[in-house]
Amino acid sequence: MSKGDGLMRREELKDKLKTYMATIRLSGYESRMAYQFKADVEAYADHVKIDKLGNVIATFEGTDPEAPSLMVFAHMDVIGFVISRIEPDGFIRFERVGGISEKIAQGNAVMVGSEDGRFYPGIIGAKAYHIQSNDEKAKVDPFSTLFIDIGAVSERQVRELGIEVGCPITFAPRFVELLNDRIGGTYLDDAAGLVNLLQIASAIKAKPPKCTVHLVGTVMEEFNARGAMMAARSVKTDMAICLLGPGAGDTPDQKSVNNVVLGGGPAVTLFNFHGKGTLNGNIAHKGLYELLKKAAQENGIPLQRSAARGALSDTAYLQLENDGIPCLDMGTPDRYSHSPMESCDLKDLEQVGRLVAALIDSVDRDFPLHRY
Ligand SMILES: [Zn+2]
Repeated sequence: MSKGDGLMRREELKDKLKTYMATIRLSGYESRMAYQFKADVEAYADHVKIDKLGNVIATFEGTDPEAPSLMVFAHMDVIGFVISRIEPDGFIRFERVGGISEKIAQGNAVMVGSEDGRFYPGIIGAKAYHIQSNDEKAKVDPFSTLFIDIGAVSERQVRELGIEVGCPITFAPRFVELLNDRIGGTYLDDAAGLVNLLQIASAIKAKPPKCTVHLVGTVMEEFNARGAMMAARSVKTDMAICLLGPGAGDTPDQKSVNNVVLGGGPAVTLFNFHGKGTLNGNIAHKGLYELLKKAAQENGIPLQRSAARGALSDTAYLQLENDGIPCLDMGTPDRYSHSPMESCDLKDLEQVGRLVAALIDSVDRDFPLHRY
């Protein structure tokens, strides 16, 4: 249960995280998540709407109309696949949606969607070890050669279920509790951020801040990173925080990449840049960053820093909206992002919500929006 500050506690956060990690929500097909999140945030907010693209927008009016408004958002969608062809013998071919490596596809359980919104279990087939040649064992198979087996024996049987080209596929939900309050499973990216939005909503409800706050679950981040841009056009926010943790650099394969560790507290991304054909990223707004640092110091919450190339978030495009929107990316550090078994630490998750709630509480009419 929530205590006096309105913040949800770790067990409550874990239960909600488990629910969101299991909610099927491929990029562009987020409606289940949108209605689930809308129902959850309505417990705290007076005004919640779903826009034409599917963004869920919960608005909390501030007590001072002169204070700048803030949008805090997390993306609802996830990576996965879409059906590209149904074979005569009932096997299903697919295209990737979002950044999924060929290396982690085969042998996974998936859920295959139909046009009427039902989902059926399936398997991404993997060739048996003992019939692979020596060359094949070390080779990664391209997606164009992979297939999904739902147990069907014919194309007709697949189509009779309403499963057609264009239907969504996601990894089958997984949730495991690891040692040290750590969680493993599907789609922590960005179930963690969505849970933080509820945590922040409960805090705002208990203690209304001076600034108007829009808590937004966004669509299509994994597809084109522009869902939040549409939400900002609608709410006309003065500034924004994207809740999306950077990858931790504390696994054997990531040593020397950065200083971010699981269990080390919330992490802020000071610089990101996609750089793989997309000339975009975000350099954290100095004013928002200073505000975050101050909130962390005053509340005894550690703050980790990340700066890396290779990725971007909605803030890359969001910052260019209206007459410029100061943006900051921060959140719960994760491991194994964009794999079927991601991992995070519940202690970090809890602190992210506490930190952002404290930041929101400190925004007043004197906050400098200019980039100093
Ligand atoms: Zn992602």
